[in-house]
Amino acid sequence: MQRVFVLDKNKKPLMPCNPARARRLLKSGKAAVYCRYPFTIILKDREGGDMQPIQVKIDPGSKVTGIAVVVEFKRGLCCVWASELPHRGGQIRDGLLRRRQLRRGRRTRKLRYRQARFDNRKRPDGWLAPSLMSRVYNIETWVKRLMRYIPITHLAMELVKFDTQAMVKPEIRGVDYQQGELWGYEVREYLLEKFGRKCVYCDAKNVPLEIEHIIPKSRGGSNRLSNLTLACHPCNQKKGNQTADEFSYPNVQKLAKMPLKDASVVNATRWKLYQTLQSFCLPIEIGTGGRTKYNRARQNYPKTHWLDAVCVGESGQVVFVSPNHQPLVIKAVGRGNRQMTKPDKYGFPRATRQRKKVYFGNDQT
Ligand SMILES: [Zn+2]
Repeated sequence: MQRVFVLDKNKKPLMPCNPARARRLLKSGKAAVYCRYPFTIILKDREGGDMQPIQVKIDPGSKVTGIAVVVEFKRGLCCVWASELPHRGGQIRDGLLRRRQLRRGRRTRKLRYRQARFDNRKRPDGWLAPSLMSRVYNIETWVKRLMRYIPITHLAMELVKFDTQAMVKPEIRGVDYQQGELWGYEVREYLLEKFGRKCVYCDAKNVPLEIEHIIPKSRGGSNRLSNLTLACHPCNQKKGNQTADEFSYPNVQKLAKMPLKDASVVNATRWKLYQTLQSFCLPIEIGTGGRTKYNRARQNYPKTHWLDAVCVGESGQVVFVSPNHQPLVIKAVGRGNRQMTKPDKYGFPRATRQRKKVYFGNDQT
């Protein structure tokens, strides 16, 4: 059940409370509604209160980001609030494209005699496209907002898809990790991504795939990533004690040696988000995508963005989520439009807009 955010009389955040308790407080007049989305009440005559460790966990996605608030009670971790934040990356891209086309049209129409503009624009370091930056801003806005309503003690986010460092050199994480279930899980996910979710020998898709040693273990092959691939059961059996070379697939050997580039590199948007979150001066826990999936599968939670956020990182191993928990669905609406003239389909100005902007998500135009 989503808990209700509580502020004390000085607008300092307190621990979120049960909806039933909030209802009682509101009925008896001890509290008033402070904000409706997210639902927050303000206590009229209380200052301060008991605090528990409270963490905001984020699973940044390209279309939807999951946000979860997890409290460490004595009985264990418990998800008390969750939300899903759909981004408007596509909308921003389309808007910029429209503006560019309009300006290009105007320039060629009216200023054909003018010399081509010298390309003197320079992008600052760490520049990201506006559609990507909007995702970072959306999440930053919500973390800031949550900081006003709950006493956050730490943050968590999914930073990378795979922990390739740890996979290539498992010894840096110790024997537990190397021989553990999680290592196997992350390696499997990594191989699925690398070899396109099919058998490398017969291209069979949608069949159970087995982790296969290119140089068989019985002939001295190692467990390293560069010696592993995925094969269906019949191919694995047929290959038996041969190397991939002897099985007449020399290219498999070459392919396995190449590291998976894009997935192992930290995604630029996530990295930017990580840097932004660091500015809040709270400890940040980092998790991998493999770990999130592993935690979610172990706890039998369905695949949703907010449950992924709950399962991010090491602290996502055991988190209680009420079975009928419904997340708050947020809509990013942007900051309005500054365009004063509406062009027709040929790019000629046709109508002027009213001098009104969008306030609090209500489109008044
Ligand atoms: Zn096969």
